[in-house]
Amino acid sequence: MILVIAEHSNGSLKKSALELLSAAKGLSDKLGGDVVAAVLGNDVSAVATELAKYTAKVIAVEDAALADVRAEPYTSVVTTLAKNLDAKAVLVSASKSGLSYSARVAMRLDCPLLEDVTSLDVEGTQVIATRFSYLARVTETIKALALPVVISIKPNIFPVVEASASGTVEDKAAGLAATDERVKVGEKAAAKTGRVALDEADIIVTGGRGVGSSEGFAKLVEPLADVLSAGVGATRAVVDAGWRPYSEQVGQTGKTVAPGVYIALGVSGAVQHLSGMNRSKLIVAINKDADAPIFKVADYGIVGDVNDVVPALKEAVSSL
Ligand SMILES: Cc1cc2nc3c(=O)[nH]c(=O)nc-3n(C[C@H](O)[C@H](O)[C@H](O)COP(=O)(O)OP(=O)(O)OC[C@H]3O[C@@H](n4cnc5c(N)ncnc54)[C@H](O)[C@@H]3O)c2cc1C
Repeated sequence: MILVIAEHSNGSLKKSALELLSAAKGLSDKLGGDVVAAVLGNDVSAVATELAKYTAKVIAVEDAALADVRAEPYTSVVTTLAKNLDAKAVLVSASKSGLSYSARVAMRLDCPLLEDVTSLDVEGTQVIATRFSYLARVTETIKALALPVVISIKPNIFPVVEASASGTVEDKAAGLAATDERVKVGEKAAAKTGRVALDEADIIVTGGRGVGSSEGFAKLVEPLADVLSAGVGATRAVVDAGWRPYSEQVGQTGKTVAPGVYIALGVSGAVQHLSGMNRSKLIVAINKDADAPIFKVADYGIVGDVNDVVPALKEAVSSL
């Protein structure tokens, strides 16, 4: 049995949950056993029902202590599920949340941990994975020599599964002990951008140094993102210049994204940027330099000044 821990936020499944399911399907085909997906949280019945459209068996674990992802209660619940279900593999997202408890689960299960993996294969009963290291200059192949194995999956690498199941949802008690709660989340002050999160966005508008300044982002990148209901991304040059926060950086040392449409404005297309966005389905680039490397990966390119092209593009989209 392959156990998937499905992430969700504000009552919706995260895209990473559907990526984990496709990774789990590949493993179950080779290792044998069913895929079981679990959702943990305070009020997860709607998310569990949604998840059952994608996989045959869903377990919903509800407890007030699971409302926020905290390492101790999540470790306890995931370890108990893995033991009781005799899981051969436990798949979690290599998100900040998933990474906060995956190593602890591996410790409790006394089993191997494959972290931040970008591909999976099986040789006999050994799970083989790849992951980036040295700032993605090196791809390592790593092997888990025993089962079970805990695996954290890098977001936006594996394909998502399509909805095709009408699965069942089973409720299970969290069975937490008082010692499973040593840290509480206090006040939360969320940044109110009103924009879709970068790693969940189906359209991303990214600005590079060619946008000129943080004001250039406010004048060009954000209005285009708003009319497209898109997320906003930035290159490292822009983040280093302090024009945008690091949370928006796309690339080798930022986020890996794979949206349906990626629009790059004034981005040169350095290899370190491309490694974070080259899995996008459709890439559109606007750059005044016809020889900019971004045009080598772009499906559509406009050679021109972002100050001229972007307002016209925004007007065209608005009038649709
Ligand atoms: C170890 C390492 C890790 C890195 N990690 C990342 C990473 O995660 N993400 C990342 O993005 N970078 C990363 N970099 C940096 C990367 O190498 C590039 O320096 C960076 O991506 C360049 O950003 P840019 O395209 O915004 O700027 P530039 O390379 O300066 O390009 C600006 C582009 O804008 C165009 N332009 C200028 N004015 C206009 C205009 N008015 N209209 C239209 N086009 C215009 C120019 O022709 C140019 O092509 C990393 C580098 C290293 C060494």
